[in-house]
Amino acid sequence: MRVFTESNVTIDFVRDDAFSAPGSLLFPDAQDLAGEVFELNVGTHVVRAGGTTIIVDLGIGEGKTRPHRPSWHMRASTGFLSRLGISRHDVSMVLFTHLHADHVGWATLPDGTPTFPNARHIVSAVDLDGTRQRTLSAKDPASVGHGSYLDCIAPLEALGLVEAVAMDAEIAPGCQLIPAPGHTRGQTMLQVGRAILSADVLHHPVQIARPELVSGFCIDGTSAIRTRQSLLARARAEGLALLPSHFDLVDFAA
Ligand SMILES: [Zn+2]
Repeated sequence: MRVFTESNVTIDFVRDDAFSAPGSLLFPDAQDLAGEVFELNVGTHVVRAGGTTIIVDLGIGEGKTRPHRPSWHMRASTGFLSRLGISRHDVSMVLFTHLHADHVGWATLPDGTPTFPNARHIVSAVDLDGTRQRTLSAKDPASVGHGSYLDCIAPLEALGLVEAVAMDAEIAPGCQLIPAPGHTRGQTMLQVGRAILSADVLHHPVQIARPELVSGFCIDGTSAIRTRQSLLARARAEGLALLPSHFDLVDFAA
């Protein structure tokens, strides 16, 4: 689905999954929302800017062992790769905004080999180092982040396919990372033209009116609020389009 167009930039959203989250889980501190149910998308943004194509985030994937999330466990026949519309061998650049299990799933195929064997997989060094360290130092590494570092990222690192960058790196001409700490310490957004792929700075449109709402999945609520407020202020001041990872309404022009 085309979600953004501007001169030589197009951005498409390809859904990998969708799920409902109760308010008590998504915004545990907001008692007035505890009885609400929120709809969230999970998927990938395909950014085409000039001659560059960047695949941003990789959903849930197939064939992954996710015993604590039955709907993510050993998924099969999702059709995601055919919906992506690009041969997986032609993908040259993947960006992970952060390394949560719902953003890295298609990094590997069910047999553990890279889905995109010819791609540089870019992620901030802060997120990569933190995730690796947190996983490998745990008593049960497979329980950290649903095991997604072990089955999605470590196999790519072993093949030299992961590139750690600064949180404010320009990863291709006109494709600029913006630090977005709070959800994770090393989360980044991507600005291309007038669009910002804003990752998990916002989980749901309710946070536009109430930026102080912190999701239950954020590691540092104070930073998450600060990042969200500054993003919304900038989007309003500059007329930017925000493309969050999980909005059911995937195109939101501030
Ligand atoms: Zn997410």
